Amino acid sequence: MKTIIEPFRIKSVEPIRMTTQEQRETVLREAGFNLFLVRATDVIIDLLTDSGTGAMSSEQWAGIMRGDESYAGADSFYRFQERIRELTGFEHILPTHQGRASERILFELVGGPGKVIPNNTHFDTTRANVEHSGAAAVDLPIAEAADPACLHPFKGNMDVAALERLIADVGRERIPLVMVTVTNNSGGGQPVSLENLRAVRAVCDRHGLPLFLDACRFAENAFLIKRREPGQAGRSVREIVLEMFGLADGATISAKKDGLANIGGLLLLRDETLLHRASNLLILTEGFITYGGLAGRDLEAMAQGFKEVVHEDYLAYRIRSVEYVGERLAAAGIPIMQPPGGHAIYIDAAALCPHIPREQFPGQAVVCGLYRIGGVRTVEIGSVMFGRSPARLELVRLAMPRRVYTQSHMDYVVEVCCELGSSRRELRGLRMVNEPPVLRHFTARFEEV
Ligand SMILES: *Cc1c(COP(=O)(O)O)cnc(C)c1O
Repeated sequence: MKTIIEPFRIKSVEPIRMTTQEQRETVLREAGFNLFLVRATDVIIDLLTDSGTGAMSSEQWAGIMRGDESYAGADSFYRFQERIRELTGFEHILPTHQGRASERILFELVGGPGKVIPNNTHFDTTRANVEHSGAAAVDLPIAEAADPACLHPFKGNMDVAALERLIADVGRERIPLVMVTVTNNSGGGQPVSLENLRAVRAVCDRHGLPLFLDACRFAENAFLIKRREPGQAGRSVREIVLEMFGLADGATISAKKDGLANIGGLLLLRDETLLHRASNLLILTEGFITYGGLAGRDLEAMAQGFKEVVHEDYLAYRIRSVEYVGERLAAAGIPIMQPPGGHAIYIDAAALCPHIPREQFPGQAVVCGLYRIGGVRTVEIGSVMFGRSPARLELVRLAMPRRVYTQSHMDYVVEVCCELGSSRRELRGLRMVNEPPVLRHFTARFEEV
């Protein structure tokens, strides 16, 4: 087998500013050991997030020039609509400025006090928008999702029996819709199987409930279905994507992930009444229904991005590049969440640094260590982000921007992780010295213990 190469050439480059460990030590102290407070030019490899950080293709940049900036009925909108209809089979498509705007509109319409929204695992903005409406956000992942070492191929699946129990407990009239997140971002970028989606659909049908997808990473999910699900290897990703969307009554999507765009979102709906109400809210707070808070050129970038993302050579490269980093880290004895998901590798910081107690944020210590050693920016997903809820894993996420870094960049990241692994005893815990009241991980400051 030959190496799976990046299926693109580089036409435009963005220089990386190299820094020394000494310089990074100063940066780290000035930023209060919080990488969200570090300037991007002080970062060598930026794995903070895969959201909106991808590289656009020459065709997308060509679309940017073609963008029709008419207020209403722009050509760019019709091209975008056509492309999304083809891809998803949905007739009604509203553009929004990003995923959370779609969530805000949806839950303002169907949420509210007393309502309950089940999901395999709510992403943080989804949960926040559900709760902002007054409704309760309930996570129903399968049990295997809680064990980082477990090799289940579809750890993103929803626990279907738990969904049945929830419906029996709270009553179907309190559940406006059931949501499934593909891939399950908060659960490690793990995919959901078609079998699981069909089973959730069957439960929804039995109780007359709509099923919505949080479909930010639908293409990575579809490719992992093709790779891992029995009987799916012979199908095209496009067919699998159509079946996934075909099982749903609606979807919220951020175009900043599998849309291969730097900004944008979508709300897909089947129900005409809901569409009418959502369109009114869109006009009220985002923009007219043919641009939804975006420029015509953004719609062009999205239209082309949603076409390119289902190319199987792209997806083979994408999934392999994440898996490659995972394999090399695991081989070096760095504990990671298994198996590697679609968009990121998660290091199990509690297992890597048993000498740092949870109160001293082992994940944040690893994040600071990776930056100090190699200028690699990652993010803590553990006690800093989620507070002191007891059952949390202490993870460090290495999110891979799409089409941005090459294999030698990734080799460098692996080397930095290995160096951290062999000097882990020297890593010190952190004390939070300034704790903001909400979403503290963005602005909190720390000191080394
Ligand atoms: C990124 C993301 C969102 C929110 O999208 P934004 O474009 O960042 O507002 C919602 N759900 C999931 C699963 C995501 O990954």
